[in-house]
Amino acid sequence: MAHIKTPQEIEIMREAGRKLARVMARLTPLVRVGATGLELDAAAKKFILEEKAKPSFLNYRPSGAGKAYPATLCVSLNDTVVHGVPTSRAIKDGDLVKLDLGLVFKEFHSDMAITVMVGNVPKRARELVLATKEALARGIKAAKQGNTLGDIGYAIQSFMEKRGFSIVDALTGHGIGRDLHEDPWVMNKGTRGRGEPLVRGMTLALEPMTAIGKPAVRQQKDDSYATKDGSLSAHFEHTIAITEKGPEILTLNL
Ligand code: MG
Repeated sequence: MAHIKTPQEIEIMREAGRKLARVMARLTPLVRVGATGLELDAAAKKFILEEKAKPSFLNYRPSGAGKAYPATLCVSLNDTVVHGVPTSRAIKDGDLVKLDLGLVFKEFHSDMAITVMVGNVPKRARELVLATKEALARGIKAAKQGNTLGDIGYAIQSFMEKRGFSIVDALTGHGIGRDLHEDPWVMNKGTRGRGEPLVRGMTLALEPMTAIGKPAVRQQKDDSYATKDGSLSAHFEHTIAITEKGPEILTLNL
């Protein structure tokens, strides 16, 4: 069952979301040739603390995971889809760099991800990134009262597959609030009208994770997920609230 938030709780999540979006806006220009994941991670932590918030991912241990996450930021390069642990590897021209970041403010979490294209990215990769961003926008548009979780999944999946891209297996969006991951799971695939009905007060992290090649993923040594066929992957995420007036993106830099 989804946790339904009060308007007061959503107001706190709005504040948390704005803080996170501001942090992401400051991080984005630091993603360039020669920068390392470790540098980006340190900057992310500094910016979050400057917002008087705390990192959500640092030391976070999802149920069933072998070990706690060792960093503030996830930096997933190229065929790595999500949960990439920052390293000293320098970013290169043509890299797809996925930044995934969460913070907690007044006991509420906010979660957001972007894919940054560094320098000369191949045409098909650029198409993947732009399509994934658009798929997230379409998923958000479908996240309104009267619709279901299946409508969100359908909006994302149908848009990506029409363009010849895959939704990767096993990884999903989620409810969010006092916990980083709450019920329900928000699948990036679905059938119209199926699944849990969407109601006012739900707060969800929508996050299409996509690939140029096949949908299968494998877990790597650092617990991150990469495409099994090595094809490039993209990821965008917003935290949203379902309100009377429709979906509201909380992770906006206003
Ligand atoms: Mg998330």
